[in-house]
Amino acid sequence: MFKKVISFVTSSAIAAAFITFVPVNEGKRSNNAYAKTIAEMQEEIKSNKETISELQNQLDALAGNKAEEQQYQSVLNEQISVISANIDLLNKELDNINADIDTAQNNIADLDQSIIDQQNEIDANVELFKQRLCAMYVTGNDNLATVVVGTSSFYDMMSRVEMVNRIASYDEELINDILSDIDQMEQSKKDLETEKLALEMKLDEQQKRKEEKDAEIAVLNEKYQQTQNEIDRLSQEEAMTAEKKRELEAMNAEFDAEIQAEIARQAAAAQAAYEAEQARLAAERAAAAQAAAPQGGYQSAYTAVDYQQPAYIPAPSASGFAWPAPGFCYISSYYGPRWGSFHGGIDVGDAGIHGGAACASKSGTVITVCNSCTHDYAKNGSCGCGGGYGNYVVISHDGTYSTVYGHLASACVSVGQYVNQGDVIGYIGSTGWSTGAHLHFEVRVNGNRVDPLGYVSP
Ligand SMILES: [Zn+2]
Ligand SMILES: [Zn+2]
Repeated sequence: MFKKVISFVTSSAIAAAFITFVPVNEGKRSNNAYAKTIAEMQEEIKSNKETISELQNQLDALAGNKAEEQQYQSVLNEQISVISANIDLLNKELDNINADIDTAQNNIADLDQSIIDQQNEIDANVELFKQRLCAMYVTGNDNLATVVVGTSSFYDMMSRVEMVNRIASYDEELINDILSDIDQMEQSKKDLETEKLALEMKLDEQQKRKEEKDAEIAVLNEKYQQTQNEIDRLSQEEAMTAEKKRELEAMNAEFDAEIQAEIARQAAAAQAAYEAEQARLAAERAAAAQAAAPQGGYQSAYTAVDYQQPAYIPAPSASGFAWPAPGFCYISSYYGPRWGSFHGGIDVGDAGIHGGAACASKSGTVITVCNSCTHDYAKNGSCGCGGGYGNYVVISHDGTYSTVYGHLASACVSVGQYVNQGDVIGYIGSTGWSTGAHLHFEVRVNGNRVDPLGYVSP
């Protein structure tokens, strides 16, 4: 139980370890409510994430639609500007035609005035002729005959006739010239009126073209407005979708924070429970040591009297190694992490193990013996002997493998001695850092400690 808690607390994947482990086994007892809440939150985070990715797809699609509309709008804009330029040209032409029409109108008016002037001049000339003739009648007789008759001489008469003729012919010529001028003016006026009519027709035509262009641009403007409305609508939808996505993301962030806080709370609770249990065990051990330790301090609590011969000769396993404590099977502590450090072997700690025989797990040569620790009793700390191993023996097997036997009450071999598998190499005790009599057994491969249960079994 506590090993699990420890590995959970120190695991880097705290959340994963916790979520998968607790609800299945021991969750029902204490952590069920928490675990359920976290599982629910994680379920909700997962479903939110799915919704978020759907919303993102919608956002992408909206952005695509908007880009299409904007593309179409820019085409429309181009068309509108082309037609606008067309309309500007047409307006200029209309202005020109109107100016031409005004000019023609003015010219016609001028001609009308000229015709009136010429007609007035004819009238004036005819009047003048009449007056001249009258004057002649007044000075002589009142008819041509009398003008002629009334002459004093033939020459006089002839000159008078000649004068009348000349006056008449002069006036006639003059009047004919004026009449010809009037004819020309009338003709010019007709031409101008024809021209004016043509201009007016052209004006109508241009105006029609302009109206067509105005209609075209109105249609385009309408379409432009529609695309603008669509773009506005898409933008609104985009904003709403993005807002929904933001909300979900914020919700997920909150869930994550809650989960982290919950995990931290649970880890702290587990750590506190572990520490309390350790303290309880330590108190127990201290009480036991107090009871076991003899009065007066460092004296052996055990005597050599209880040294035993092995219960049986242990048989080697498939690996060639044999169980080092025949007759004692209870493993009180395994190879692996322990109390914040690492336990590099196994502890064999049956009741009544003190004085039991420790046997060579395999044949080999004794390479280390420490036999100087006199502190053979249960304790809470280390007496410091043998680097905490107390009295111990190391046997080298073939250069690659070696085995270690720690906390012996006493070793009974010496360095350099060759031992056979199953030979007694010492007696199990509680020397060094030992909370009670047990055999600490290690297997080393090239000096590295490995799990002994890979080589021996009780
Ligand atoms: Zn010691
Ligand atoms: Zn140990």
